Amino acid sequence: MIIKLKNNISDLDFKRIENFFIKRGLKLKDASSNEVKLIGVIGDTKSIMESDIMALEGVEHITRIQVPYKKASKVFKPTPTIIDVSGIKIGGDNFVVMAGPCSVESEEQILEVAEACKKAGAQILRGGAFKPRTSPYAFQGLKLEGLDLLLKAKEKTGMPIITEIPSVDLIPRFVKDVDIIQVGARNMQNYQLLKALGEIDKPILLKRGLSATYDEWLMAVEYILAGGNEKVILCERGIRTFESYTRNTLDLQAVLAAKELSHLPVIVDPSHASGRYEMVPQLAKASLAVGADGLIIEVHNNPEFALSDGAQSLKPEKFSILMKELKELAPYFKREIK
Ligand code: PEP
Ligand code: MN
Repeated sequence: MIIKLKNNISDLDFKRIENFFIKRGLKLKDASSNEVKLIGVIGDTKSIMESDIMALEGVEHITRIQVPYKKASKVFKPTPTIIDVSGIKIGGDNFVVMAGPCSVESEEQILEVAEACKKAGAQILRGGAFKPRTSPYAFQGLKLEGLDLLLKAKEKTGMPIITEIPSVDLIPRFVKDVDIIQVGARNMQNYQLLKALGEIDKPILLKRGLSATYDEWLMAVEYILAGGNEKVILCERGIRTFESYTRNTLDLQAVLAAKELSHLPVIVDPSHASGRYEMVPQLAKASLAVGADGLIIEVHNNPEFALSDGAQSLKPEKFSILMKELKELAPYFKREIK
């Protein structure tokens, strides 16, 4: 960390700044020239907040050299993390496709969609049992009954399942029955939940928050990693912008940035990003091209009557065509769809 001091800093303020760092076990190195007063802070500064340093009189500017997300950072673990979910690799050469309905709605619905997704070549089944909805009057999911139905679909198809966890109290049940626990965009900064998920041994899919910067997203991941759970998959699902034609704006650069900054696998959700089924196939292919490790896509057998997110759901036939195209394209990007 480098601190630029005010040119007119008093000796007393300088001493106070020195003490601030020395008390925290850090060393200082003077790097001043005739024009600027600079000090280098040497040691592990991740637990020091910029705002605390800026509160010291005489400090003008702070530049961090090391990232504050140590465990998520590639600097500290240069080899890419590959997560194994019942033999399916997430990260590495495999391009993973997770697919299924936004919400689990009934036994017939989830079984039919699961079979169709499996037939088309999806590896993992998605389905929301607990639904975070903007309106409290909208369908909130079948909750535990939805989870039971997902388990039936898993048994029938052999596909591992991913579903969203709404709160800490459900962790024991999710650990028992779910293969990948999804943290939704709205919960990306629910630090109690993230901390609790850090203590379990189960893959977590962490969606990027609606307006989260890359730093905020990676700091959220850090909460899980810091607890000891190193199985985290990042998911870019579109962010809030000024555009209203689409539901969100897919930030494909986020895939590049997250893969540059961290060692974790990164997948894309083109369904929530666009909110429009007709855009999903092209965005899915663009995600493969840009280097994502996979996709999570909403598929529904009857989108017109879906209880949530019908407008962004692909019908099974369209999903099947997309899977064929992805399989053909994957080798051009040194990927495989198994
Ligand atoms: C979902 O996957 O259905 C969902 C609610 O996603 P997000 O948290 O990205 O909005
Ligand atoms: Mn949805």
